[in-house]
Amino acid sequence: MPAAAILFSEEQIQSRVADLGRAIARDYAGRSPVLVTMLKGAVVFLADLFRAIDLPVRVDFMSISSYGSDSEASGGVVRILKDLDQDIGGEDVIVVEDIIDTGLTISYLLATLRARQPASLEVCALLDKTVRRILPVEIKYRGFECPDRFVVGYGLDHEERYRNLPLIVAVDDQTALTDDPDLLAPLLAARNAEKVEKTGERTPS
Ligand code: 5GP
Repeated sequence: MPAAAILFSEEQIQSRVADLGRAIARDYAGRSPVLVTMLKGAVVFLADLFRAIDLPVRVDFMSISSYGSDSEASGGVVRILKDLDQDIGGEDVIVVEDIIDTGLTISYLLATLRARQPASLEVCALLDKTVRRILPVEIKYRGFECPDRFVVGYGLDHEERYRNLPLIVAVDDQTALTDDPDLLAPLLAARNAEKVEKTGERTPS
């Protein structure tokens, strides 16, 4: 039985990230925005995104964890495990997220950041699972619409695996992956979309 299907290839991601970088550079011309990045999932996206922004951007990192098993169970209330190093008061802030699902986590986070009185506050998310949204979120810079599937790769993990996959795959059978977290290891061995595509769009289980 197949385990995962390619959702976004490395080329598609790189091209979209370049578009987002250009859009941000255009909108923030003459300014120096702070890219507030959520650890750990968004770091791969950040690494490509901020090199595509032709401005003196700054970066800062935040690490949060949901109370309870997931954001839905916790109602989006998060605990800050690592706060920003810099004061964002008066700064142009762009929150860089890997994926927005129910919108609960980002909504809580935006309220927290807004209370620090930045000059402006926007969201840049690589993936947007609109179909799962509970709280509305205004995403100014959006990479791709994401289907209601569990995805890994390009920073997104399952039990800390697959963040270093340069493409994004949708998992066909989440139960099988839960039973065997290394199920998609052949994808890591292939390391790039072309090699994966040569062996077919789907990986053997
Ligand atoms: P939200 O509060 O919007 O429901 O939660 C967003 C967070 O859920 C993301 O930052 C990510 O950690 C996690 N998440 C949601 N969907 C997926 C998915 O398909 N794959 C992975 N790896 N994480 C996901």
